[in-house]
Amino acid sequence: MKQNFAVIGLGRFGTSICRVLATEQQEVLAIDINEDRVNDLADVATEAIVADAQDEETLRSLEIGKFDHVIVAIGKNIQANILVTLIVKELGVPDITTKAENDTHARVLARIGADQVVHPERDMGARVAHHLLSPNILNYLAINDDVTMAEVKITSSAFVGKSLIELNFHQRFGLTVIAIQHGDNVIVSPAGSDVVQLNDEISVVGPTQAVEELNDRMN
Ligand code: ATP
Ligand code: ATP
Ligand code: CA
Repeated sequence: MKQNFAVIGLGRFGTSICRVLATEQQEVLAIDINEDRVNDLADVATEAIVADAQDEETLRSLEIGKFDHVIVAIGKNIQANILVTLIVKELGVPDITTKAENDTHARVLARIGADQVVHPERDMGARVAHHLLSPNILNYLAINDDVTMAEVKITSSAFVGKSLIELNFHQRFGLTVIAIQHGDNVIVSPAGSDVVQLNDEISVVGPTQAVEELNDRMN
């Protein structure tokens, strides 16, 4: 489905959002106060324009209120970031995603009506730290404070060549295996008879502590 996106602020974060949306054939309006940033995206976005997004009249004339999604990716200038979020909210944008620089900023954004508040530097930093501590956890999603979904690489010979019945993840760890990836081949919702091989990537869901325990067994 084709939707309309406006990305305001074309730093590394906003630029990356524009590129992916454009690759996915979406309509993208890219806005920055800095002409060089805008020029870099001229061939990527549907439209790329130089404007100060803090100017309400400019956003009105661009009919920002008619966009399905607006992403406020202004970073260091927190005042501009907040003001722009407020203006696009008032102009009636139904879905607003704003980048926060810190927790206080995030609280303000939630209050003024940002639908999604994201912390790319904080979250990516956490991800890198987790990966350094648990290199066999390739990917994870915290479902809540206690439950995690994770992709774990099988590197321990104790697991290799055994079926899910033999490995007994449920009883031993409290984990449910939802997929086994073997090279390019993915078994979704595997059966008990499916066998795990060296370097397979298994997707599991269960208590966070159990995921960590499984990772420890791989070392
Ligand atoms: P990133 O981490 O994404 O690279 P950053 O967090 O360092 O970016 P900035 O570089 O401060 O954040 O801001 C991102 C972009 O937002 C910059 O290209 C900047 O020119 C643009 N920007 C700042 N203020 C405005 C504004 N009022 N209107 C439009 N664009 C703006
Ligand atoms: P972030 O996006 O993570 O907030 P940034 O991409 O905007 O950061 P900077 O603020 O330029 O990057 O740099 C990050 C940190 O690195 C800063 O705290 C800065 O003081 C520190 N730093 C920069 N140069 C050096 C240096 N030569 N030695 C040690 N620390 C440095
Ligand atoms: Ca930054």
